[in-house]
Amino acid sequence: MNTFQELELSQSLRKAIENMGFEKPTPIQAQAIPLALQGKDILGTAQTGTGKTAAFGIPMMEHLAKSSRGVALVLTPTRELAQQVNKTLEQLSKYMGFSSALLIGGDSMHKQVRSLQRDPQILVGTPGRIIDHLERGTLMLHAVDFLVLDETDRMLEMGFSIQLKKIASFLTKRKQTLMFSATMPKEITAIAESYLQDPERVSIGSVSNPVEKIKQSHIFVKQEEKFDRLIQHIDDNEGAMIVFAKTKHGADKLAARLYKEKISARALHGDLPQRKRERVIQGFRTKGFMVLVATDIAARGLDIPHVEHVINYDLPQSPHDYIHRIGRTARAGAEGSALSFLTRADESKWKAICRLIDPDFRKKERQSVPNRFTKKKKRFFGKPRSSENSSPNKPRRPYRGESKRNPRPSRQVSVS
Ligand code: AMP
Repeated sequence: MNTFQELELSQSLRKAIENMGFEKPTPIQAQAIPLALQGKDILGTAQTGTGKTAAFGIPMMEHLAKSSRGVALVLTPTRELAQQVNKTLEQLSKYMGFSSALLIGGDSMHKQVRSLQRDPQILVGTPGRIIDHLERGTLMLHAVDFLVLDETDRMLEMGFSIQLKKIASFLTKRKQTLMFSATMPKEITAIAESYLQDPERVSIGSVSNPVEKIKQSHIFVKQEEKFDRLIQHIDDNEGAMIVFAKTKHGADKLAARLYKEKISARALHGDLPQRKRERVIQGFRTKGFMVLVATDIAARGLDIPHVEHVINYDLPQSPHDYIHRIGRTARAGAEGSALSFLTRADESKWKAICRLIDPDFRKKERQSVPNRFTKKKKRFFGKPRSSENSSPNKPRRPYRGESKRNPRPSRQVSVS
């Protein structure tokens, strides 16, 4: 399938797709839509930014158009992703007259109950809040005949497997199910067996290879050097940037330090009240500020097309998160870069990431390619910087301006 015209879609859906500016289907759409239109269950491996929302949204609209009393339910791991998915589904259903309810935590229960009383055909939400509604009796799922599990790997990583089972117990057996995941660990195949019937597998590229257009690199730094190197990187690169920090507190602190340095930065993490989170995302989306300091959960699934750089200020806990993080850039075919700061303590985490993103990494390890963490320790970690550079009393931002005139020896290494 090369064009949307080849598909038998209703006129109103065609018009909506056209309005959204989609001319050609993305590869995941080309694979998944024809199968889903035949009513098949789908197990899809697709990285973020590949167009998977429309890959399930388009067949969903056709399904709802044909099933007079049907309801579609989309489960996502985070509130932000649910909002984004809901927005895309609203755009797709613009001329079809379907209404939707967004069921996410941190939002008014009362407002959600009111939207449920309007009998929406589309429900989008996070597992926790959906269970809240089910337990209060404000939501029934017996009419759901189209189910989407989006970013299933992330839902499991976030500990939602019990909630997913519970939600499944409220659903009837007869429904079409589309399940998407950026990675396909064993737990996903196990859960797929309980949710899907004779599914068609669709996948875009290798399961664990990050989007090819992302230029990945890493530098070896000491913990106390990270901030200056970040400032240097911000100075040297134009464009919007997401900086990943390990903890909520770390994200707050880093954003405040950047702000002090007159860099327009804001933090995004799960402790922010929902309204504030939305304001931060909106501010970043509309280029109100250029550096977003985020934790993994908060930034998961964010679709902000102009993000050009991702910085792993701290490495993620799980190697799969590395793929999700760098997938925040190079959205919908654009180019992007991802830079990771590595300290000595990161050795095992970094190796786990390399094993995931580079299929030849194990072979290279066996052939004992020089290990930068150990054999070259001297070069990267052995020699302390002059006390002048690392002194906390030294005026901040020693690299600004200086970087172009007197560049530091480049220790930036490309991994691909
Ligand atoms: P998603 O993976 O669903 O988050 O989509 C990533 C981005 O791709 C979003 O900004 C979509 O609007 C965009 N997109 C999805 N499908 C298409 C398409 N067929 N043509 C152009 N852009 C698309």
